[in-house]
Amino acid sequence: MYKYFQVVIVSLLIVSCKSTEEFTGFSYDPPDVTNTKDKVIQNQARRTIGVDSPKVWISNEFEGARMNDVYMYNDSTYEVFIAPENAPINNSPWYAFKIWSDTVRMAKIRLNYLDATHRYIPKLQSWVQPDSAWKQQMELPVQYDSATGTATFEVLLAPDPIIISGQSLRTSSDLLSNLNKREILGEPFVEINEVGQSKLGKPIWELKITEAKQNEKTPVLAIVSRQHPPEVTGYLASLLFLEELIADNELAREFRETFIVKAFPMLNPDGVDNGHWRHNAGGVDLNRDWENFNQPETKAVREALEPLKGSASQPLFYAIDFHSTNENIFYPINEEVKTSPDNLTQLWVERVLADNPEVEFNVEEFDTSSPIAKNWFYHTFGIDAVTYEVDDQISEEHLEQVSRSAAKSLMKLLLEKWEKTSLEN
Ligand SMILES: [Zn+2]
Repeated sequence: MYKYFQVVIVSLLIVSCKSTEEFTGFSYDPPDVTNTKDKVIQNQARRTIGVDSPKVWISNEFEGARMNDVYMYNDSTYEVFIAPENAPINNSPWYAFKIWSDTVRMAKIRLNYLDATHRYIPKLQSWVQPDSAWKQQMELPVQYDSATGTATFEVLLAPDPIIISGQSLRTSSDLLSNLNKREILGEPFVEINEVGQSKLGKPIWELKITEAKQNEKTPVLAIVSRQHPPEVTGYLASLLFLEELIADNELAREFRETFIVKAFPMLNPDGVDNGHWRHNAGGVDLNRDWENFNQPETKAVREALEPLKGSASQPLFYAIDFHSTNENIFYPINEEVKTSPDNLTQLWVERVLADNPEVEFNVEEFDTSSPIAKNWFYHTFGIDAVTYEVDDQISEEHLEQVSRSAAKSLMKLLLEKWEKTSLEN
């Protein structure tokens, strides 16, 4: 008990100090988060469990699953137990499981988390034949019990399995099929390269987009996404950005003729495929490893971009790191910090807000001391960068609208700034 209180007091102190952390109601840094050497993780047993009679089946034997156990909570409720890969960890309890029944019936399911409280609204997905893919059909309303942190919902089961997950299921193999579906791959000006491998040997992909002439000085826009597995809305925003960057219109063409885009849209494939709440297979928060680079995923990006440090022909110009949280929020670098070019984020955010008056945004500036991606871009290249956080619960319509308009206003702004920079030099 005493030890427990100690932990609580320490975390309260850390939360209230908040010197370097990007604090929201849902995310805070647990103790030891900036120690990014390998930590022990607990792998979930992959299995299919049958309960009740007639039988209801629940399985985690698929990519992206997280389901640690299931049992009868009472006569009418099945309890699905969800545990993180390791602890301490942020309260982002991801879950995903397949469920079906020998007979057609309604079922009551209670989600119970180890040392966490319910966060993500259950999404029901079914297998859609023409696409041969799991497709989100609806959200399932829950009854939240604040005393236990559990959530209970009802769902219709049948012999055909459905998937219930915290966000729509977007695993590492989804990346390439998604890039194909969006016709991002296959364009002559898009290259895809494996720049490294995750701890479990999955490729870390870099997309390079450019139509610039080889011998011209070409600034670089860097994009990072999906360091944190459950942050699907931020990942989808990054894909919509890529779609706008490859679009067949005057703005995108001019942008590609002037800039190089280097995008790393799936930085934590192991965490995503193993249903992690936050960490990679090394049990580490990748977005605290941009100083020590102990993990192969962050190292891969460093090795891909660091050769551009001081480059006269391909200078880094701006960087975006996509995430999700419980609101739409931009975390710019403090306005007082001098970057080159300066205060791009502040100018961009102004335009994003003006273009999307019906969407709520917040902006919170931070210093550059924490070991996160944005600060590495600043410290290494002297450039401005942003942590771009998308609301976990953003509607599909707003996600599309904001992402596309933000990509367009960014291209315009970067072109204006680059023109100015080249005139000055
Ligand atoms: Zn994140």
